[in-house]
Amino acid sequence: MSDDLSELYQEVILDHSKSPRNFRKLEGANRVAEGHNPLCGDQIKVYVLLEDDVVRDISFEGSGCAISKASASMMTASLKGKTRAEAQKIFEKFHQMVKTGDFDSTAIGKLEVFAGVHKFPMRVKCAILPWHAALATLEGKTEPVSTE
Ligand code: ZN
Repeated sequence: MSDDLSELYQEVILDHSKSPRNFRKLEGANRVAEGHNPLCGDQIKVYVLLEDDVVRDISFEGSGCAISKASASMMTASLKGKTRAEAQKIFEKFHQMVKTGDFDSTAIGKLEVFAGVHKFPMRVKCAILPWHAALATLEGKTEPVSTE
């Protein structure tokens, strides 16, 4: 593993990929969306209980690489309790960060550990996949989401 790669797979990412948070089917979810990343083979299904425009609960299932799993895990933690508008804002900031490496640490919080992903274009799709699926649930889309 090169220095850059080990930097990417920091401790927090490894921890979340090994023991993902909210990794289960959410009983009572009223929004579900699937995301596929054919380039890597990541498949993530996101469950959301949306009430009064607030993400009351969120979980995910699926299989994928360390980055996609860790991203899904940390995403569920950061979107829980947020309004739909807040969640969309976080998505935009996360998307910008993994694409460019630029971020505002007060807005992005713990998700900052993914800032290094922008140096690995193949991994950007892995990191953003669960977010695309979550966004689809918030927008009420039912078609599977693909990064391609
Ligand atoms: Zn992946």
